[in-house]
Amino acid sequence: MAGERTRKQAKAPGERELIAAIRLRANHLASSGPKEGILAFGIGDDCAVLRPRRGEDLVVTTDLSLENVHFRRDWHPPQSVGHRCLARGLSDLAAMGARPEAAFLSLALPSELTGSWLQGFLDGFMALAERHRVPLAGGDTAKSPPGAQKKGGLVVADIVLLGSVPKGKSLLRSGARPGDVIYVTGSLGGSAAELLELGRRPARGAATTGHPHLYPEPRLAAGRKLMRRGLATGAIDLSDGLSTDLAHLCDESRVSAEIDAEALPVDGRASLEQALHGGEDYELLFTARPKTVVPRQLGGVSVHAIGRIKKQGRKPLVEIARDGKRTALAAAGWEHFRQA
Ligand SMILES: [Mg+2]
Repeated sequence: MAGERTRKQAKAPGERELIAAIRLRANHLASSGPKEGILAFGIGDDCAVLRPRRGEDLVVTTDLSLENVHFRRDWHPPQSVGHRCLARGLSDLAAMGARPEAAFLSLALPSELTGSWLQGFLDGFMALAERHRVPLAGGDTAKSPPGAQKKGGLVVADIVLLGSVPKGKSLLRSGARPGDVIYVTGSLGGSAAELLELGRRPARGAATTGHPHLYPEPRLAAGRKLMRRGLATGAIDLSDGLSTDLAHLCDESRVSAEIDAEALPVDGRASLEQALHGGEDYELLFTARPKTVVPRQLGGVSVHAIGRIKKQGRKPLVEIARDGKRTALAAAGWEHFRQA
């Protein structure tokens, strides 16, 4: 992946110190051997060594966090950037019902950020990694060069996460069937509402509760429970927004859906529009057969029924019932490369 230019820069003086600083912060899990997880050897060799268990599938996800696209340095404290970088990948694992096994982090930083900014980033990253017992098992670093007009370089953080699921038990987007009930965990729209507030009043420090945008909580316990109890027919995490992610699930399952506006668990500070299209809530959306008894709480988070899966008809893919009227719900969440 690294081009000739970035390779040369990666070998510039300073990289060893950068790696040493990150290695110092990698959690004890990275060197604890295969007793607990499948990581046999982490940072320190050319490759990490994994020893998968019999009867398990490995799942892999990768997520890019790019400055000025996924975060802004003047709005997001470094702790939040580190937390969110890992949370995005963990949320994908949650949506598959997976247990996190190892994280790999590639980081490009302008030289002026290799001190306290990096430590703040690692504070946020490692606090979440410790909570979910995922070892930082490797990665890469590079110096991000100044851009045009000698403006400061940009931060790029790329995360790869590995998880394990009992063979054949991964929760998939493709299993929803007509008649299934649609559920979401937690509440929706809080992330978009907080992001709007950040634009007016940037956050400081690293308070981690009550910040759905700065410090989202990936729903790993809920995902594992859904997988273990075989409750869900289909699942996806809400990263791009309900309207967009539900459409993804419908596409993969070849079905359509109807949601009820009044049933949506809208976050206290959010509007209905933010709950429908806001994105980055990192809650789980899943479907279950109508006769399946789904608990009101899963892994410590509330669960709400918000609609039904229907046969795939003509467009629209997703409809919303609001004030006794049914209208098409356009996928208006986040989408890279979409023409404005
Ligand atoms: Mg996802």
